[in-house]
Amino acid sequence: MTAAPETGYTVLAPDVLAQRDVADPLARFREFFDLPEGVIYLDGNSLGALPRRAEQIALKVLRHDWREGLIRSWNEAGWHDLPRRLGDKIAGLVGAAPGEVVMADSTSVNLFKVLAAALRLRPGRSVIVSERDNFPTDLYIAEGLARLVGQGHELRLVDTPVQLNEAVREDCAVLMLTHVNYRDGAMHDMAALTRLAHRHGALAVWDLAHSAGAVEVDLNGSAADFAVGCTYKYLNGGPGAPAFAFAARRWQAQCEQPLSGWWGHAAPFVFDSAYRPEAGIGRFLCGTPAVLSMAVAEAGIDLMAEATPARVRAKSVALCEAFIALVEHHCAGFGLELASPREAALRGSQVSFRHRDGYAIMQALAERGVLGDYREPGILRFGFAPLYVRYADIGNAALALKEVLATRAWDQPRHLARRAVT
Ligand SMILES: *Cc1c(COP(=O)(O)O)cnc(C)c1O
Repeated sequence: MTAAPETGYTVLAPDVLAQRDVADPLARFREFFDLPEGVIYLDGNSLGALPRRAEQIALKVLRHDWREGLIRSWNEAGWHDLPRRLGDKIAGLVGAAPGEVVMADSTSVNLFKVLAAALRLRPGRSVIVSERDNFPTDLYIAEGLARLVGQGHELRLVDTPVQLNEAVREDCAVLMLTHVNYRDGAMHDMAALTRLAHRHGALAVWDLAHSAGAVEVDLNGSAADFAVGCTYKYLNGGPGAPAFAFAARRWQAQCEQPLSGWWGHAAPFVFDSAYRPEAGIGRFLCGTPAVLSMAVAEAGIDLMAEATPARVRAKSVALCEAFIALVEHHCAGFGLELASPREAALRGSQVSFRHRDGYAIMQALAERGVLGDYREPGILRFGFAPLYVRYADIGNAALALKEVLATRAWDQPRHLARRAVT
């Protein structure tokens, strides 16, 4: 072991990494995933891996619940309860209570619902404060909603987190933030920023897309008002798996969301012609749930609950620190620059490096079986999903990165051509 002068983190030798895998209390979880041979998967922050049980659930839902049960399965196979039952399980992962989370729709759609509900709770205030480098869909949704409301509502964007102190004023209705930034992995202090919002009479809406299943989240301990999040990233729910919405119990009876579909009605099967919202979190449902995707997503959610966010976070921090040290040691002098916060407390479960030729480098890495991804401008993202990423994997990934940089293997036309999804 040698100390990396720049980081203060230790550069772990291959045999030490192997020992860490042997001692890892989460090591057994890797067996629960069906991972392809020869791939080091460092993109679980974009699409989580396939839990083996997901395949069994899919087959059961198709062959038994759908084929045999047909319409009866809404009651008998528990389809009707899925959004609330899985919502309760997700609640346990993000510091919410049972009855405060539902699984439904996409993150974008849920953000529309909770943001609209929050705005209605703050009449007379017209500003939504957020960050310019928030995930674009969050800003687009806020923009679209502000235009729809059409009462002079506007988005006020800041360029650095300290500017939030200035931007949250008495005209602010909602402070809308993503807890962990998708590009550089920087993590906000949820409790402190929620306090800032509340001090000025505003509400706090949090996006947990890169937090749920990656870091410890305490929505109620932070007094958060509303939140949304994603299940196809660190929760391993499957491509396009339904997202979730959180509304703190204290707001549920008095808040209204505008996508007032029949699944959010107090008694949908009465088929009343007038809308009357369900008393609790159910009012954040809109239409019929995507049963197949939702059923399959339970496999990943259960694995996370069993592993516990605390143990997952501890391993995530260790993996990220080891990776930073290895990359800065092996790849020194090749123009890589750490884009993520160096301090673990300020970082989620990903490490990003900046490089002028980042896109081509990531393509060349993929050819070597190391899968991360790329985000503009020049950001190589490596996500660490502690349920299936091993310490040995990050050692090998750092060496592959070194080889790509040292040989300039990335500098070829086929690596420079952009694909539709980066
Ligand atoms: C991934 C992500 C989303 C995804 O939204 P979809 O509606 O599922 O496409 C939204 N917000 C943030 C911050 C994300 O990281």
